[in-house]
Amino acid sequence: MRLILIGPPAGGKGTQAARIKVEYRIAHISTGEMFRAALKAGTPLGKEAEGYMKTGGLVPDNLTIRLVQERLRQPDAHDGFMLDGFPRTRPQAEALEVALAEQSVCLTAVILIHVPDAVITERITGRRTDPATGRIYHLKFDPPSPDVAPRLIHRADDSVEVARERLAKYHAETEPVIPFYEEKGLLRRVEGTGTPDEVFQRVRSVLEPE
Ligand code: AMP
Repeated sequence: MRLILIGPPAGGKGTQAARIKVEYRIAHISTGEMFRAALKAGTPLGKEAEGYMKTGGLVPDNLTIRLVQERLRQPDAHDGFMLDGFPRTRPQAEALEVALAEQSVCLTAVILIHVPDAVITERITGRRTDPATGRIYHLKFDPPSPDVAPRLIHRADDSVEVARERLAKYHAETEPVIPFYEEKGLLRRVEGTGTPDEVFQRVRSVLEPE
């Protein structure tokens, strides 16, 4: 299975990706995670990406595309993958087409998680990440237990101003990717409001139609 997950920031992509990975046993490729890891490790790529990430901007296409091309060549991606946070622009979608054609593989589906803007803003500002496990909590909707709570971090790009900027970027740059996949008959829309379990049931139903 070769999937793409598209959705607004804090739309639940990361949460659904974690479940899809377990259920369908495919490699989870998150460009956001890869950039954060590069930043933490202090690599040249991390240093270059840092400024864009901190202000809610997108890392330039050439860097991002190269990163994904290399990742797709890793052995664990051969039997299936799920791209989370990529493609985020039309040129990235086009570059992905070329990379997949070179490997003679096709996408299975593109899952679009749809969440209204007002819900996104509320979700982003209450979001906290566990640096030890990568698990994401929400202070109101998915509160952490008291033993985990002290170590949780508020991602620098989850502040209100940066959240607004990321949402604006999503509408301007990422939404144009949707018709690209719609025309190919690959797009599957999933309503992203409700609990993570409810959303996952919807994801399963579009991947395994009766
Ligand atoms: P995410 O964890 O997917 O929300 O990504 C965090 C940040 O990494 C984004 O706000 C961007 O600055 C950068 N990033 C992640 N994926 C991409 C991409 N496909 N294209 C450009 N920038 C990206």
